[in-house]
Amino acid sequence: MAKSGPQTYPGASLSHWYQNAYAGDAMETNTIVWHSTEGTSLPTYSGGAIAPNLTAVPNWGKKRLDWYQHFGFDTSARALVNRAGGVETNTLNVCQVEIVGTCDPATHKRWGSTPHLYMPELPDWAIRDLAAFARWAHDEHGVPLSSGVTFKAYPASYGSNGVRMNGGEWMAFSGHCGHQHVPENDHGDPGALPMAAILAAAGKSSNSSGGSSSSGSSSTAQPKVSLAHVVAAARKDPSAPQGHVTYRAEVLVVEHALAAEGLLSSKYVDGSFGTRSISAYARWQRSTAGGGYTGTAADGIPGSASLKRLGARHGFTVTP
Ligand SMILES: [Zn+2]
Repeated sequence: MAKSGPQTYPGASLSHWYQNAYAGDAMETNTIVWHSTEGTSLPTYSGGAIAPNLTAVPNWGKKRLDWYQHFGFDTSARALVNRAGGVETNTLNVCQVEIVGTCDPATHKRWGSTPHLYMPELPDWAIRDLAAFARWAHDEHGVPLSSGVTFKAYPASYGSNGVRMNGGEWMAFSGHCGHQHVPENDHGDPGALPMAAILAAAGKSSNSSGGSSSSGSSSTAQPKVSLAHVVAAARKDPSAPQGHVTYRAEVLVVEHALAAEGLLSSKYVDGSFGTRSISAYARWQRSTAGGGYTGTAADGIPGSASLKRLGARHGFTVTP
């Protein structure tokens, strides 16, 4: 699978870069998995052997997060358990981010007056900087500014916690989740991370048309998808050299919607409108919700009516 878009987060330090020691797999990230380190400083991660893609370290003097990047955004990292058999974890299109701090109320109490981030009570500046990262991952890589999972407080979030995804849910997921949601894993971090506040702040920092219209639960501005662009991608990408993408950002919006409908595996949500996306779109056209098209009318090349139906269900606007 191709890596596309910028691979390093602007401003992140590359002084603890581990991709030369551990090459990782190429992915097309559509999910952020959040962790908390349960410590107060940048971990050594056993020389990179158990490192995430990025670490956010609180800078108490400047009231901001200092970012360290260890692997490229679309390169698999190593902070998740992956059992034999079952589903892939580290390599399934996830970018992992460790926040230096604790989600454990017992640790929070023990650390007392030592400056530290406690996940359920993050200061505004930490939420602001986590939101800026979420925004960047959305704008540059199409990671949805959505979550849809509950971040349980530690220690109830440990082990079999009622919010951990099963293999099928994990395969279909895109957006923001935590270590506590990943199958084959026991850890309960990052506890009650204020995900809704982070995503709301990320939606508000949108550069589109001034201010967010906070209708309903999400304050994210509706993405626009051009029918002409998506059709061009559907005609070009399948026969183009591997990894070729046309109008990547708009194609990602459509692919995320197809995945949410259960018509496309999340591992093919990659911004390239290839043969898998075309057959998924054909299934959408044949479905009742998609318009119930038959024969050559359900050829997998998006049409205005079927794309608008998809947009109405998944929060995007179709333009000519
Ligand atoms: Zn973790």
